[in-house]
Amino acid sequence: MKVSRMDDIDILQNAAALEDEARLRKLRMLRKREDHLPVPESRECESCGDDIPKARLEARPATTMCVDCQQEREGRR
Ligand SMILES: [Zn+2]
Repeated sequence: MKVSRMDDIDILQNAAALEDEARLRKLRMLRKREDHLPVPESRECESCGDDIPKARLEARPATTMCVDCQQEREGRR
């Protein structure tokens, strides 16, 4: 069977694509671990007791403080 240049290029491109695919999958898995943290319906700030905005919970499901208190704590370091 004759292997043309085109086939070689295809194989190389496929290999590169597979490598990218594997890398993407790894990245996606890493991201998923964070994405799949359950987003709580609501949570009160552990510092001031105010409701933490939903948008903030979605962005940082693990957060336990509202933006104000978080910033205050970081500023106080
Ligand atoms: Zn607060």
